[in-house]
Amino acid sequence: MPLFRNPTRAVEIGSTTIGGGQPIVVQSMCATKTADVEATLAQIEQLAAAGADVVRVAVDHKADCDALREIRQRTGANLAVDLQENYRLAAEVAPWVDKLRYNPGHLYHHEREKPWREKVRFLADIAAANDCALRIGVNCGSVDPAQQEKFAADDALRPMLESALEHCAWLDQLGFTRYCVSLKDSDPAKVVEVNRRFAAARPDVPLHLGVTEAGMPPEGVLKTRAAFEKLLAEGIGDTLRVSLTVPVARKHEEVEAGRAILADVAAGRFSGDEYYRTFAEGSKKRLEIISCPSCSRVENDKFCELAERVREATRYAADYPVTIAVMGCRVNGPGETDKADLGLWCGPNFVNLKRGGTPLGAFSFAEIIPRLKRELDEIIARSEKAR
Ligand code: SF4
Repeated sequence: MPLFRNPTRAVEIGSTTIGGGQPIVVQSMCATKTADVEATLAQIEQLAAAGADVVRVAVDHKADCDALREIRQRTGANLAVDLQENYRLAAEVAPWVDKLRYNPGHLYHHEREKPWREKVRFLADIAAANDCALRIGVNCGSVDPAQQEKFAADDALRPMLESALEHCAWLDQLGFTRYCVSLKDSDPAKVVEVNRRFAAARPDVPLHLGVTEAGMPPEGVLKTRAAFEKLLAEGIGDTLRVSLTVPVARKHEEVEAGRAILADVAAGRFSGDEYYRTFAEGSKKRLEIISCPSCSRVENDKFCELAERVREATRYAADYPVTIAVMGCRVNGPGETDKADLGLWCGPNFVNLKRGGTPLGAFSFAEIIPRLKRELDEIIARSEKAR
């Protein structure tokens, strides 16, 4: 049964189109070092073979852009690039890709004195000159600080929403309409609400759905499914990615999970409903492990193993409402763990730990789990006392 779809405008990404009534496009992202051409090519081919319509890679520096030039010559896959904080790399990389993703919150990191509108004008010009689409990728962990200051006190989701709307309005004003938007949070209920609100305000703009830091399967798939089912059933969503904490060799599971969700929704099967009612909408809380899907920036090959060890070591606390965040790098780790009770992020040879907002130091891979459990036990003991 074809899904009912919102009448969004069509946005071409290489040989595929999102929106405009086209089938929903499934995406995934490489977790290899982008500068490692052979490994990244193998990852792109793995994802494309699994059914990814668009594959994203991250660029951090010039070496990544040079690698993409070679990768472009050797694959026909539709490529999107994640510009991270360095928006100026767009000029280097746009000739080799089909879509540029920028995060409005990250535009504040470089050239702070330059207004964001100028930076977006630069990106739109580069995209137009190189036949690329754009994605305005708003993420709960790195929202535009100006919007945060204006609206967060009244309405937690409004800064994300206003940031996306403001960037859409500016791109429209510039005459660049080949763009889509994503609004991602690690909480499925927030993903549903913010995307509903955006779709109501801008029904013409194609939406890329995602639950950020959904974590490891099977929980990560279930959490994502819970949000996607709601939105897709309402006609919201033109493309999607299921972000999972899995090693490079298993990244194809993201694509398979995305395709399975689409098939189930089309067939009227909603197996994420119970999760949504119990944990996302409902009052039942439990231990939550959020973890990033890793990307080119991940600082240690043992990151996925670390996330798995955290899950195994904390199973005894499953019924306590504690959030543990496990991130792959020092760039996004400190910010993305801000809302968690306990946050871990990888450095090259160690793991940083913080509790609430307080850094507790860097620990070896052997030390980190016992220390994490000590902190977790203290949090549990305090919550027991407070009952
Ligand atoms: S936290 Fe770091 S390693 Fe993980 S996905 Fe984000 S940028 Fe990549």
